Amino acid sequence: MTQKEKLNINAPDAIKADIDAINQIPMVATLLEVVCRTTGMGFAAIARVTEDKWVACSVRDEINFGLKPGGELQLETTICNEIRQSGVEVIIDHVAEDKAFCHHHTPAMYGFQSYISVPIFLKDGSFFGTLCAIDPKPAMLHTPQVTGMFRLFTELISMHLNTFDQLKTSQSDLKSEQQTSQLQEYYNKELTIANQKLSSANDKLQQAIETGNMGTWSINPATYEVTMSDFIKELFGFPLNEDISVERIVEAIDPDYRQTLTDILKNAIENHQSSDIEYPITNIITKERKWVRATGKLFYDQDGQLNEYSGMVMDITRRKADEDRQAMLAAIIESSEDAIISKTLDGNITSWNESAEKLFEHTQSEAVGKHISIIIPDDRLQEETLIIEKVRNNERVDHFETIRKTKSGKELHLSLTVSPIKNEQGKVIGASKIARDISKQKQFEDRLQNYAERLEILNTVGQTISADLDMQNILQKVTDATTQLTGAAFGAFFHNKVNELGESYMLYTLSGAPREAFEKFGMPRNTAVFAPTFNGDGIVRVDDITKDERYGKNSPHSGMPKGHLPVVSYLAVPVTSKTGDVIGGLFFGHSEPGRFVKDHEQLVAGVAAQAAVALDNAKLYGEIKALNAKKDEFIGLASHELKTPVTSISGYLQIIERGLPADDRNKAFINKALQQVNKLTTLISDLLDVSKIQTGKLPLLYSSFDLSELLTDVSEMMQQSHITHRIELHYGNEPINLNADHQRIEQVIINLITNAIKYAPGTDRIIITAGVVNKKIRVSVQDFGIGIDKDQQQRIFSRFYRVENLAAHMSGLGIGLYICHEIVSRHKGKMWVESEIGKGSTFFFEVPAN
Ligand code: ADP
Repeated sequence: MTQKEKLNINAPDAIKADIDAINQIPMVATLLEVVCRTTGMGFAAIARVTEDKWVACSVRDEINFGLKPGGELQLETTICNEIRQSGVEVIIDHVAEDKAFCHHHTPAMYGFQSYISVPIFLKDGSFFGTLCAIDPKPAMLHTPQVTGMFRLFTELISMHLNTFDQLKTSQSDLKSEQQTSQLQEYYNKELTIANQKLSSANDKLQQAIETGNMGTWSINPATYEVTMSDFIKELFGFPLNEDISVERIVEAIDPDYRQTLTDILKNAIENHQSSDIEYPITNIITKERKWVRATGKLFYDQDGQLNEYSGMVMDITRRKADEDRQAMLAAIIESSEDAIISKTLDGNITSWNESAEKLFEHTQSEAVGKHISIIIPDDRLQEETLIIEKVRNNERVDHFETIRKTKSGKELHLSLTVSPIKNEQGKVIGASKIARDISKQKQFEDRLQNYAERLEILNTVGQTISADLDMQNILQKVTDATTQLTGAAFGAFFHNKVNELGESYMLYTLSGAPREAFEKFGMPRNTAVFAPTFNGDGIVRVDDITKDERYGKNSPHSGMPKGHLPVVSYLAVPVTSKTGDVIGGLFFGHSEPGRFVKDHEQLVAGVAAQAAVALDNAKLYGEIKALNAKKDEFIGLASHELKTPVTSISGYLQIIERGLPADDRNKAFINKALQQVNKLTTLISDLLDVSKIQTGKLPLLYSSFDLSELLTDVSEMMQQSHITHRIELHYGNEPINLNADHQRIEQVIINLITNAIKYAPGTDRIIITAGVVNKKIRVSVQDFGIGIDKDQQQRIFSRFYRVENLAAHMSGLGIGLYICHEIVSRHKGKMWVESEIGKGSTFFFEVPAN
């Protein structure tokens, strides 16, 4: 049994029930009012249409059509009957202009020009009736809003009817009260949901009407009398209660458009042309500028006489502003020097500006619709996934430097900025990408980087070679650096060196090739190619040496010997010393032609100049070293030779002294002579020590002793012979056990006390302290004498160094502290001084404790 049969449609009671059911739908009246307000039509109804009846269930009648709920129309006179049979909605904006319906009997009979009727189907598919509306005037019904609204409403009505029907059926079918109430509860819930849907749909519609920005107007072609809805009056700023003339309307329009509008009006009325025009107006009260769209249609009476020209006015200010903005945006995008591309989240290109065409070589039509990977190098495809991931999360990718490719496969360095594109709801739907070509910038940066690197190399080379005094080291560094700077496959330094026999031969260093690669060919000779370099004639740079006229002129090889490293590009720079002698030459080779440029000549020449200075220094240093060695040799020999006679003199003097009677007046002279001889002995022994240190032959004799005892003995002995100064000694009660060379440590202490007395004339105190600090034995000797300048404090420990000026008039050789320092160092200790000019000095030494 179908629902239709269940409802028993033909029975008068059943019709009554249907009317009741419709009127039980909440807001049915509102729904009809919305229909009238939205369409501007005067009559709307929900009709039950059966096989033999058209009954109005609910009605809104603003035009005195005369139908009330329950009122019937003769079925055959209605279009609804046809809809019942076809199941298809009928919409007529303007009957007179509608080919299918201009001769239909229904409009003629009921006198309407606009008509809309949408079928209501029940859940089981059976036809219930229609939601329809009519008006004597035409209306704009063929719009998605209107048809959408009608369809939505018919669905809602159907849903309600269905709910009622089910409720009714279950009520009669089910006996159990409990079940009924459960069901009722269920249906009530359903109803509430349905009502909520209806209510929200209604709210949306109300909003649509309010924000619809539409109004209607009509002009009587005979009198040019104008009627317009309040919306239009408000839009123009006209008083609501006044009739508005055509002239007043034209006045409100932008002067540029007035003539067009007048022409359109004339054309419509005289030539029966419908119209659709957009123009700007100025609200006469607020002076606000608005854009409107006015559509106009012509309506005719039954005799075919034009009796109305009417239509709609819409406020399109926002749309226009959007359009303007868009046009501006489009212009900006098109004129931008950067490539601007948009794409979907799947990576499909949706827009492609002119600069993108130029940059990537794909035309707009080639690119749009394609995947963005057309410009991404294969090894960077992964980047796209990462970028899109970010965009999807509504993040921007700023100044991302990467590489993209052109249609012809050329790689471009680009800086990309990618931003998400969102729809009105704020959902990310795509990405816009701005790509800036930074190839030039990159090139520039690379060049800068190159220069910086070269400078860095030059600097380091300069520094390291000037600090180096070893010739072979310098040559190696210079060869390595210049090979790197020139990009040569290999580089070599051939050094002019004169051997003992006075022959000129060459030592060399190599870079980029193993030494064996050269060794088997022997040293380069003064061939036509090499001669200009060894003669110091200047730089030789040849793109292809094998084609050079100087090449291959010398036997036996006539060119490069077999198996020689392949040299095509050739660069040779002489290295000339300050005196003008050619120290040697730097030679570079590469197997490809044209690898060396002017720039390289300057670079190598720069390094060569630095190298020449360094080599001169090294040479000088070598000479000094040799002289020094000779001097040391002499000192060693001399002191050794002096030692024996001085010891003999001292011995004989002592014998004489002992043999003389106590009152002999010569005894005093002998003692004076002995003192002088002792001084001489000390001097000679110091010189011998220096010599021993130099030759590494200063032996140490280790023994364990108490340093405090040693200090006591030494200071007492010194005190006896030096009465000018009071020697104070400070140390703890505990013995200071030391394992060291007793005699040498004593020598250090004596030396420090002697200096303290010598360089502190006019003062009377010397303080000696000893103790253990951090597991080390520390001894200090402090005086209050002339002091030592900060600059000199380090140097006084070197051989033969004496402080100028202040100490110059005090005798000495400048070797005492050197020997002390050596002795302490040999004991794995250290020695230093703290001093201030005019205030005195404190000398410290530290040796490891036992
Ligand atoms: P010499 O005393 O024979 O010149 P030294 O090696 O003992 O040689 O000392 C080196 C130099 O250090 C001295 O010439 C002197 O200028 C300086 N010097 C050493 N001890 C002191 C000191 N106690 N006060 C000031 N200057 C000193």
